[in-house]
Amino acid sequence: MATLEIRDLHVNVLTDDAPKEILRGVDLTIAGNETHAIMGPNGSGKSTLAYSLAGHPKYQVTSGTVTLDGEDVLAMTVDERARAGLFLAMQYPVEVPGVSTSNFLRTAATAVRGQAPAIRTWVKEVNAAMADLEIDPVFSERSVNEGFSGGEKKRHEILQLALLKPKIAVLDETDSGLDVDALRIVSDGVNRYKAASAEAGEAVGIMLITHYTRILRYITPDRVHVFAGGRVVESGGPELAEELETNGYVRFTGVGAGA
Ligand code: ADP
Ligand code: MG
Ligand code: MG
Repeated sequence: MATLEIRDLHVNVLTDDAPKEILRGVDLTIAGNETHAIMGPNGSGKSTLAYSLAGHPKYQVTSGTVTLDGEDVLAMTVDERARAGLFLAMQYPVEVPGVSTSNFLRTAATAVRGQAPAIRTWVKEVNAAMADLEIDPVFSERSVNEGFSGGEKKRHEILQLALLKPKIAVLDETDSGLDVDALRIVSDGVNRYKAASAEAGEAVGIMLITHYTRILRYITPDRVHVFAGGRVVESGGPELAEELETNGYVRFTGVGAGA
């Protein structure tokens, strides 16, 4: 089973002015078959963690390590990270005008699998995954995320999850902007992939980044971590999420329940 290990990670965001330290010593271990919820107030650095794992050029690691099964993730290109089995669903998925969703998915699958999927089985696979996620087949021919609603973008992230079959998935605010029906469809998609990956013998490890406890009613976490000031400040079981639901983040920020 895969293990993602983050040790004392410090990250600066590069701005027009001086670089600004956002992550201040993140420690986190996520193994296959585990779901970890990362919860924290707005601005605490949760997305910065996701971008850093993705290898975004604006986020500069100044110290610390990230390994996937002992391999140095920080030394890998973005493509190599995907091939190693790391998947990242961003809070704000990018639009890719002029590239159809079906071409994008096939290119991504080719990159991750090391060879182009056979066309006949691939089409079946995509259609089945789209049906599971209640995505209209016309979306195949539309440009990636262009003009998609918030909910459609999130469903497309989970479509990629289902097709790329990662070992470790980082889902940044996959619940944001979803109505209750879309939340259920997206959560079912994540749970379906969890079950399928376990059945295939390589159970996925999930880092579920969220501001709200709502999605945790659908996707049950094994561990809950509170993120504040650029690091994990407390860890516990699902009961920690219940406490946050009641009390917000006051105890961790001292300045209110977060915007
Ligand atoms: P969260 O996802 O927890 O809401 P973020 O990681 O998005 O937090 O942001 C953490 C902090 O880093 C915030 O103060 C934010 O303003 C700052 N930040 C993040 N990205 C940038 C950027 N590209 N330029 C300037 N500041 C940034
Ligand atoms: Mg935010
Ligand atoms: Mg964020």
